[in-house]
Amino acid sequence: ATARQAATERTKTVCTYCGVGCSFDVETRGREILRIQPQYEAPANSISTCVKGKFGWDFVNAEDRLTRPLVRRGARFVEVSWEEALDEIARRLTGIIDEDGPDAVAVIGSSKATNEESYLTQKLARQVLGTHNTDNCSRYCQAPATEGLWRTVGYGGDAGSISDMERAALALVVGSNTSESHPVIAARLRRAQKLNGQQHIVADLREHEMAARADVFLRPKPGTDLVWLSAVTRHILEQGWADDEFLAERVNGLEDYRASLEPFTLDYAEERCGIPAHTLRDVAERVSHADSVVGLWAMGVTQHHMGSDTSTAVSNLLLVTGNYGRPGTGAYPLRGHNNVQGCSDFGTINSFYPGYQPVEDEAVRDKFAAAWGRELPLEPGLDNHEMVDAAYDGSLRALVVVGEELSLVDANVHYVQEALERLDFMVVSELFFSRTCEFADVILPAAASLEKDGTFTNTERRIQRLNRAMAPVGDARPDWEILQGIAAHMGHQWGFTHPSQIMDEIADLTPLFAGVRYHRLEGYNSLQWPVAEDGSDTPLLYSESFHFDDGRARLYPLGFREPQDQPSEEYPLHVNNGRSLEHFHEGNLTLRSAGLTHLVPDTWAEMTRRTAEKHGGLATGDWVRLISPHGEATVRVLLSEEVADEELWVPMQAAEINLMTSNVVDPDSHTPAYKEIAVRIERTDGP
Ligand code: SF4
Repeated sequence: ATARQAATERTKTVCTYCGVGCSFDVETRGREILRIQPQYEAPANSISTCVKGKFGWDFVNAEDRLTRPLVRRGARFVEVSWEEALDEIARRLTGIIDEDGPDAVAVIGSSKATNEESYLTQKLARQVLGTHNTDNCSRYCQAPATEGLWRTVGYGGDAGSISDMERAALALVVGSNTSESHPVIAARLRRAQKLNGQQHIVADLREHEMAARADVFLRPKPGTDLVWLSAVTRHILEQGWADDEFLAERVNGLEDYRASLEPFTLDYAEERCGIPAHTLRDVAERVSHADSVVGLWAMGVTQHHMGSDTSTAVSNLLLVTGNYGRPGTGAYPLRGHNNVQGCSDFGTINSFYPGYQPVEDEAVRDKFAAAWGRELPLEPGLDNHEMVDAAYDGSLRALVVVGEELSLVDANVHYVQEALERLDFMVVSELFFSRTCEFADVILPAAASLEKDGTFTNTERRIQRLNRAMAPVGDARPDWEILQGIAAHMGHQWGFTHPSQIMDEIADLTPLFAGVRYHRLEGYNSLQWPVAEDGSDTPLLYSESFHFDDGRARLYPLGFREPQDQPSEEYPLHVNNGRSLEHFHEGNLTLRSAGLTHLVPDTWAEMTRRTAEKHGGLATGDWVRLISPHGEATVRVLLSEEVADEELWVPMQAAEINLMTSNVVDPDSHTPAYKEIAVRIERTDGP
């Protein structure tokens, strides 16, 4: 072999972008990324990837990577050694805790960090700082879906595997632009539709590709999914199309639930959602008569004022029709970030230790207190939403942020930025000088996924290994080393030399992961939780029993409340938002990819020709200001017939989108109603 060939290395990794969890080999020569090579044995994707997984890696070598720790000195940041940075963090956090107690500090984890790093994030909060004030960005996207599953079936994860989505006779897809947000899952559904005659019922505000080729496309009015879902379920019960045997043997609460459905007639649903009653009758017949049904949903459901209840409504419908516990059935909230599932699973959440062990359970508390050698509180801590409020009112004084761009992605960012200004001390670990770094006192350079070892958990509860393909840039460190460094400077020597040792500690303390050991995760091997001590895992949940003490599922009664930020005379247009195929969320990674940015360099607002004419004779390419009661964004116009009249759609990589969102949250999960924005439009000359 030539020297050039000899220097080429091949390393198995897991995609850093979405929750599908595609895995593949990456070929590198030093820091150069030569190509992404998918393999047949990859469980979620086989030889498929999407454009982001294949080409979206330039950010790893971007010139603006952070390479040295930075500390604020007056109005400037200066480079310091790791020792100095960690000393400063320890001194400031200790001082604040001494003055105001442990609940004056909080730690926000990252859904891009590994499971092991998520575990250490909450361990830092709980063991070192002494607070349950820890949370992650599932608060902004997927917490309502988890709440809906906890209420009805017990586990906060997908019921089966991606292969079950493909195997189902019918896929009900609600509020998910799957083709762009979870492209490899969409490809598998497309294959099932083509080869197996899988039926697709798609409900969305936008007639995107997935909707356009559906057997039935529903376009409900914004924020009303709960109404039509409940009306369909009511009609199924009324017609005697429910799975009575399944309900009798495996489900509690039918009569209370049936009573709660009383208002949800098909006529009411037609009036409130704008979907004809005969279409909903057709949906009820298809769902109840199909041999197996999967329910898929994403942020079009969860980021609403009733995100938890609407997620619950999907699960209720699946229970009434007996669609749990068999291959090709079940509920599948499609997780957004590559490790948003794992971040909560491994305990970066204010009310649970790892594996959803409640902080209020004394026996659980005693177990962790004994393992970690300190007393631990029994009351839950603050979630992300509450942390921002507490920073605003001054009761939260310090924040440690692991790679979360909260000053751009939280709702109503004017308010969030004001809250961050009021903190006495903030630490951010990041790849780049993000918008959030502007508010920090200490900035720590973090390693990217290709630069570290660990595991990620994808949307189907699948734990997969990623392996270090190159050394971290400059003095950057993996977050597990950073967190361990902070702990050490505050007197806690954890002593981990490799993430496998962290996973061993997790497995010893967490029944859900009892058998998760690195030797079972070599190569393309993976494990779907719960994992028993002998290493047997669980690709399909609920085949024997639901995750409640009596083993029975629970139908959950629901009502409907109107959205709060509705279009009005002053703000006549509704704005929806979502992911585009080429970019990921706020774009901190993909906007640094030359190929992806070449494909999609800009941001825009989609509107119909009729809407554009009515609001000033606008044309594609014109600049407009979208003005909500909370703030404004400037974007270009893109004429599109995918949206409805008087309805706009803006991609998430539009950095200003959350200047327009309000403080309204789903009361059950505290997830902001990101999809409920009302605006007026004004033409402008440019940004
Ligand atoms: Fe990555 Fe998701 Fe694309 Fe797969 S589908 S390559 S996990 S972004």
